Amino acid sequence: MPGAAIEALLILQNRDTRRVDLEAQLRAVPTDIALVERDIGEEKGAIEAARTGLRELESRKKLLETEIGSAEQTLAKYRTQQLSLRKNDEYQAMGHEIETVQGQIGEMEGRELEIMFSIDLAKKKFAAAEAVLKQNISGHEARIRMLRERGENLAAELKAAQAEVAAARGPAADGWLRAYDRMAARGLPAVVPIRGSKCGGCHLKVSSEAESAARGKGSPGELARCDQCARILYWDN
Ligand SMILES: [Zn+2]
Repeated sequence: MPGAAIEALLILQNRDTRRVDLEAQLRAVPTDIALVERDIGEEKGAIEAARTGLRELESRKKLLETEIGSAEQTLAKYRTQQLSLRKNDEYQAMGHEIETVQGQIGEMEGRELEIMFSIDLAKKKFAAAEAVLKQNISGHEARIRMLRERGENLAAELKAAQAEVAAARGPAADGWLRAYDRMAARGLPAVVPIRGSKCGGCHLKVSSEAESAARGKGSPGELARCDQCARILYWDN
């Protein structure tokens, strides 16, 4: 059994470990919330992209319709003009013009059909993106609420854990507490058992002096330290 001085440090270390763990969990909460918010943002982004795509196609269609309209006006004008032409070669030349415009209209109508087909696809894409968000949003929101609640609970637990740490520091001997704090600042555990003549922290063999200090056979009040990693050692066999 470790002595009372080590016992006090082990209690402190136990509470410090819990405090550090709670701090890490609390730190993770905003990151987790940000991840959910990113998902929501991505789903909204997909809707926006689909909406923009749809608008672009619709304005292309409108433009094309205007072009077709004016080509049809030209066509009607040419046909009227053709009726007043008496010379055969002039009549034929106008006929050629009419064919050209007809060809242009046919080509534009073909493009319009393609755009209408793309509009149908874009509408489906838009509806699908909206459905995804609609389906997920309540889950996303519930997760954010849950994470916020978790954050509040963790903060309360951390406050209690900090009070417990402060209470555990009281009984610890001054010199040992300073050694503990220096080691703990590098990362826990700061106090480790010797097992099979090896340090429970770095797992390297400890010197016989360190081992006998840990057994309480050194000078009174002597703190046993690992020769390799300087962690505080105690005898636990
Ligand atoms: Zn060590």
